[in-house]
Amino acid sequence: MGALLISCSDGRIAAELTRLQKRVHAEDADRMLVPGGPLVLTATGAERRVALDSVKSLIDAQNIKQVLLVSHQDCWAYERALGGLGFDQQEILARDLRRVRTLLENQYPGVEVYCFVIPWRENGTGSAAFGEAERVD
Ligand SMILES: [Zn+2]
Repeated sequence: MGALLISCSDGRIAAELTRLQKRVHAEDADRMLVPGGPLVLTATGAERRVALDSVKSLIDAQNIKQVLLVSHQDCWAYERALGGLGFDQQEILARDLRRVRTLLENQYPGVEVYCFVIPWRENGTGSAAFGEAERVD
């Protein structure tokens, strides 16, 4: 059974993506990494069509049964798309993840879609770092 991970190309989250894949037993998942990750599937027009075509060919060719949608806080692609990310970024990320999950579930009834957000947090010593990916229901 194949899995597909759709996430942001930001190299700072690469290690957490690998940890998440291990945690959900999808170590060999194909990866579709683009700026903003699931954000491109909420776009309009050509950008979304290209992204959906990529998802479709991956799902068809690799017998994908599981899709992991992963967004992260402190994402510049999101900041650029929205003109800034405030304290409600968690809500925006979760809203978009649910929207993309619905889109994919409707298009591919046999595929399970799971959503995650990688948080960006103060770590207690005055600096911040990415934490463990959290499931969005
Ligand atoms: Zn990003």
